[in-house]
Amino acid sequence: MKVTKVLTASLLALSLVALSGCGKEQTPVGGTSGDVLTQPFTEVTKINGQVFGTFYYITVPGGYPGGEDTLRSDAEFVFTKVGKAISTFDKTAEIARFNEHHSTGDFPISSYLGQVLEEVQRQSRRIGQAMDPTVGPLVNLWGFGPKGQIEHAPTDEQIAETKTYVGLDKFSLRRAGGTAFLVKTDPRVELDLSTIGEGLAADELAAIMDQKGVANYMIAIAGAIRSKGANPEGKLWRVGIEDPLSNGQKVFTAVCPQGMAISTAGSYRNFFIDDKTNDFYSHVIDPKTGRPIAHRTVSVSVVDRAALVTDALDTGLLVMGAKEAVEWGNKNDVAVYAIEIDEQGKAKETHSRAFDVYLKCQVHHNLTQTVPLE
Ligand code: FAD
Repeated sequence: MKVTKVLTASLLALSLVALSGCGKEQTPVGGTSGDVLTQPFTEVTKINGQVFGTFYYITVPGGYPGGEDTLRSDAEFVFTKVGKAISTFDKTAEIARFNEHHSTGDFPISSYLGQVLEEVQRQSRRIGQAMDPTVGPLVNLWGFGPKGQIEHAPTDEQIAETKTYVGLDKFSLRRAGGTAFLVKTDPRVELDLSTIGEGLAADELAAIMDQKGVANYMIAIAGAIRSKGANPEGKLWRVGIEDPLSNGQKVFTAVCPQGMAISTAGSYRNFFIDDKTNDFYSHVIDPKTGRPIAHRTVSVSVVDRAALVTDALDTGLLVMGAKEAVEWGNKNDVAVYAIEIDEQGKAKETHSRAFDVYLKCQVHHNLTQTVPLE
């Protein structure tokens, strides 16, 4: 069976687009007079570029202290910090080296990576491990990881064998005397934190901006966004959740994150199509089955206190599917918005009660407060 990889995805468009102040991604959406915060800004610092195999856009209405050069150097500092900790594509990164450590002996890691992993474990448990940082060997088996594309879909035996060393219980994290250590239960265990990389970097940069007293910004790294204050027109920031059927051309709905983080996981951009059977294989893997997800939910967006949290949850909630994801959101008071393709081929949304407030773009009294990453 020949399989063709399709990655229109990350390099062409973002699954979330800033609806204002974000260059070519702008899409007009009717505003309301109630969302005006201040006068339009005369000075706006903007940068964009590529990172982590995808695009980023940063906009600072009112100007960044030190201008564009300082903003770019702060962003690059963050990208390097995150990449050196969690990349599986950079062989010198901590996670990449851990994956090459084919041993059940202690592997020392930075305290920073330890903190990130603890948060990822916590979020994974909240959603029954539908997002699982040990899914890396399955991601590689299906040709979506650093080991490159595959010619043939894996066999049932290969999937079953790989699943024997996937699961939160397959590694442990311990701290001793100020040092953190990772330990595998099987030398073949690997970690994949790709799903939270963009969110983590957005949070890190937001923290630097908050420390510098920057009052207005939008940081968009692929599907993860942190924003604060007002957009260049002096209005509430609006973020568009992409219409999954529009190939990056249309916005499905507009959201006002109101100082909170928002991210989207989608299965409609990075996938394989089997050119004989026409089967569709998403890059999002269900750790329970060991296979790409196979249901009609194509995107899940989450709003929460930090983009690391939303980025961890959206992937797992996408694995669970719209119905279960929204039920989980209602039960846990988390803002979840899911898009499914119905039997007529139309996109339809469903969201949890906590998401309502972000769909009503009205000024909130606590708009300029951002929630720090723990
Ligand atoms: P998301 O939906 O957020 O995450 C999907 C990804 O998460 C999958 O591709 C898979 O890796 C993993 N995943 C799948 N299922 C699960 C699950 N159930 N639980 C947990 N994780 C799952 N790509 C390149 O092509 N070249 C690079 O040089 C490169 N460098 C990178 C460096 C860093 C630091 C990071 C974080 C990523 C890098 N990537 C690179 C990966 C690429 O950008 C990914 O496509 C992206 O990080 C995944 O995010 P997403 O928003 O596309 O998908």
